[in-house]
Amino acid sequence: MLHHDPAPVKQVTPTNTTYDVSSKRGRRPAFVRKPEVNIKHSVNGSEKTELFGLKYHNITRSEAISRLRQHIENRRFQSKSATLFFINVHSFQLAKKDADFRHCINQADLVLPDGSGLSYAAKATGKPIKENLNGTDFIPALCKTLASEGRSVYLLGANTDTVNRCTQYIRKTYPGLKVLGGRSGYFFQDEHESIISEINSLQPDLLLVAMGSPLQEKWVMRNASILDVGICSAVGGLFDFWSGKYRRAPAWMRKAGIEWVYRFMQDPITKWKRVFVEIPVFLFKIGYWSVRRRINPENAGV
Ligand code: UDP
Repeated sequence: MLHHDPAPVKQVTPTNTTYDVSSKRGRRPAFVRKPEVNIKHSVNGSEKTELFGLKYHNITRSEAISRLRQHIENRRFQSKSATLFFINVHSFQLAKKDADFRHCINQADLVLPDGSGLSYAAKATGKPIKENLNGTDFIPALCKTLASEGRSVYLLGANTDTVNRCTQYIRKTYPGLKVLGGRSGYFFQDEHESIISEINSLQPDLLLVAMGSPLQEKWVMRNASILDVGICSAVGGLFDFWSGKYRRAPAWMRKAGIEWVYRFMQDPITKWKRVFVEIPVFLFKIGYWSVRRRINPENAGV
């Protein structure tokens, strides 16, 4: 089922084009089409918390998994797939400069707080998060649950070799989870329609999109309404971990909230800016906000 496409080719940023790709859901007979369950009720069941312009759900891991499971169970009654994102310090920096990205995050059905930076900021602003839910730990937990129910997944992102390795990894680690297919995240615009058609013909319960931020979130939000999948999630570098390209930090580093140091050591060229610019700027912003809040609690403006 996997594509054997050539070496990664130039990435073409998806546009706002509307694609005429019919989904099987749209062709269901009338008697199967029950009144639509509002997606906001099944997945997005609680108020979002807002921090520096981005909205997220402050819920526990088991709450989040239970909502997603429920959505998959009811998926034939839903008009679109549920969108799941994770936000971290990098997301705040992107959102500051990119209104489209900010809009994607704020419109998503489920947004989970990822990383010690966000956890620290939430605490400093008086809205501590219930649980740090980074995608690299959360998605495996979700896969474990979905495996126990015989659900299915499709992988979109990274290069073909990485996707093939991830497929092997999932089949070994989560034997009940069916990998229906996978495809590299490097594609031309004119391949877009065939990608959507293939995914819709397979109708996976979970679609994992690993193309890096902000590309993956924009791709997910632009296509969620035409995708015949249960949950569509942006997962960043997860495939690189699953495939063995990068290693997770030792448990003590994860526990101490400094996994990003380990990540930087393995991939300094692409990650240096996050460590030396984005994290210090974010911490400075929180410090500045804390001082302002002390001086003028009414107008601190988070
Ligand atoms: N990637 C992709 N298509 C692109 C750019 C990147 O599939 O056009 C993949 C890349 O191979 C890597 C992942 O997206 O596996 C990005 O990982 P990263 O850890 O940088 O994600 P981020 O932290 O930016 O979300």
